[in-house]
Amino acid sequence: MAVKVAINGYGTIGKRIADAVASQNDMEVIGVTKTRPTYEAKMAVLRGFPFYAASKEFMERFEAKGIEVQGSLDDLLQEADVVIDGTPKNSGYKEVYEKAGVKAIWQGGEKHELTGLSFNALANYDDAFGADCLRVVSCNTTGLIRTLYPLHKEFGVEFVMAVMIRRGADPWDTKRGPINAIEPVLKVPSHHGPDVQTVMPYLNIQTTAVKVPTTIMHLHSMMVKLKQDVSTEDVLSLWEDSPRILLVEGEEGIKSTAQIMEMSRDMGRTRTDLYEIAVWRDGTHVVGDTLYYYQAIHQESDVVPENVDAIRAMTEIEKENMKSIKKTDLALGIEC
Ligand code: NAD
Repeated sequence: MAVKVAINGYGTIGKRIADAVASQNDMEVIGVTKTRPTYEAKMAVLRGFPFYAASKEFMERFEAKGIEVQGSLDDLLQEADVVIDGTPKNSGYKEVYEKAGVKAIWQGGEKHELTGLSFNALANYDDAFGADCLRVVSCNTTGLIRTLYPLHKEFGVEFVMAVMIRRGADPWDTKRGPINAIEPVLKVPSHHGPDVQTVMPYLNIQTTAVKVPTTIMHLHSMMVKLKQDVSTEDVLSLWEDSPRILLVEGEEGIKSTAQIMEMSRDMGRTRTDLYEIAVWRDGTHVVGDTLYYYQAIHQESDVVPENVDAIRAMTEIEKENMKSIKKTDLALGIEC
């Protein structure tokens, strides 16, 4: 029987997870919620998702706009096996989910302490097996773990130094910036290094971060001291065999995040989403004992397949992480 999934908060992340869950044959979306009758609420109904108000008191405002509402979040949770929390950080639903007795998956805006378990499908799927709640780590942290975990397993990692060059806002978001400035995070480390350690506590990593006026992707400039001598080719062939990493080449015309997004459009990806972490093949170099590389992160979508895997682990419908990853990726059109 398919796992019944509720999505509370049908926004940037929630709507993508809804589509991803709907594409799998072992789980189904039994309802999505919103607080306000925006165009996204109408789109959810058009896409065929049963629509619920995030609270009973909001039901009237949807009905007033002609949006058919099946009930409130409380009604939806009664039917669900798992709820995906896609609400803005600190929305405070922990007690609501616990009271309803439903397993809950939070997103990276929340603190690790909320669940005590932070998740990445490649690095700690087993820890999530049968868990009642967890947090899928943020887009940047997911990107760091995707490339660093294989390096740790295969070669051993002495030390990582990474600079996060972060998009100022998502493409639709006109409220945030910077608009014409570059804004460094003055605290060192930025929160990203410690966040990676919630999943890989054994990793020696320092991160700094800078926000820039772009909306389409983040970019990471990485320096990794490995525990053994390797060649650039060794590293590239390791990543070729690792899930959800896409090697791209400047020589083939992919010189920036703009061309990565154009490639994603040409690949026919929904909403221009790129679930994989794009790593420049010709930007990867081993110099002495240090590996240097650049990777680009599509912040709106890289965490989406991780949420699908988290559902499988928590509900115990798939024991092996690689089997879940393959199944998720096949349905999402990610090359396995
Ligand atoms: P968003 O603002 O795009 O979407 C949030 C959705 O929740 C909206 O549909 C909104 O209507 C709804 N909502 C707001 N308050 C609510 C409430 N009280 N109850 C129910 N629904 C409510 O936000 P987002 O970018 O999708 O972020 C959601 C989570 O995902 C955050 O933890 C964020 O840090 C994380 N995340 C975001 C990104 C990104 O780049 N956008 C990437 C990775 C993780």
